[in-house]
Amino acid sequence: MFVDSHCHLDRLDLTPYDGDLDLALQAARTRGVHRFLAISTSLEGAPNLAEIARRHDDVDISVGLHPLHEVAVEPDSEAIQDCADRYGAVAIGETGLDFHYDSVPRETQHRRFVAHLQAAHELELPVVIHTREARDETLALIRQHIDPKVGGVLHCFTEDLDMAREAVRSGFYISLSGIVTFASADALRDVARQVPLDRLLIETDSPFLAPVPYRGRPNEPQWVVEVAESIARERGITVDEVAMQTRANFYRLFPGSAPDARADNPFG
Ligand SMILES: [Zn+2]
Ligand SMILES: [Zn+2]
Repeated sequence: MFVDSHCHLDRLDLTPYDGDLDLALQAARTRGVHRFLAISTSLEGAPNLAEIARRHDDVDISVGLHPLHEVAVEPDSEAIQDCADRYGAVAIGETGLDFHYDSVPRETQHRRFVAHLQAAHELELPVVIHTREARDETLALIRQHIDPKVGGVLHCFTEDLDMAREAVRSGFYISLSGIVTFASADALRDVARQVPLDRLLIETDSPFLAPVPYRGRPNEPQWVVEVAESIARERGITVDEVAMQTRANFYRLFPGSAPDARADNPFG
């Protein structure tokens, strides 16, 4: 039983499924994927994702504003909290810092990230963090704002083992995507081998970053299985072990997503 810990279900290419999201999810369920965490990239996207979660028992949502999403008005921590509360989010994000691009100025990204960290702190929700070429700044803000008892995940991790170890020390999980299957990703496969197994998550980040052998096609949640297979190969363990461990890790980090938590969630 696999969990796709990070997918953008409102942005999938549903052409192969006649436009029916449930068929795309069904294709994943058939391969053993039994839970999906749908990630918002803007607060305006949250109602649509909440509606998807309402229609599918195995979908939960995270609410946040992506560091590179341009907006007219920056949401403050209260606005993020209200949105997460209203739509039954089990996590805050995706948020973070991406200094690879400068479509959103670094200072704005920084302020926006802090607002999310404060919201997560207030709501005691884990944080889904996007970080690229902003290693020291990301780690510093995590150390400053994150309650290690609540924690979070560095999603679609592409940095080095040192950063992974630092994040784990701060109570974080490391989530690997299809990039781990890319021929050029030797350094990331090193991370896949060395991060403690009880700190690893798996994700697709679909529709982005389809794994080998599907590279170049729009990614789908079902291909989280290929990510798990790649990690299993690297660590010399079975795919079942990777599935079991990453699933246990997922529910430890996102307790609001555990099956017995859903009874209290009107959007569950
Ligand atoms: Zn991201
Ligand atoms: Zn994402």
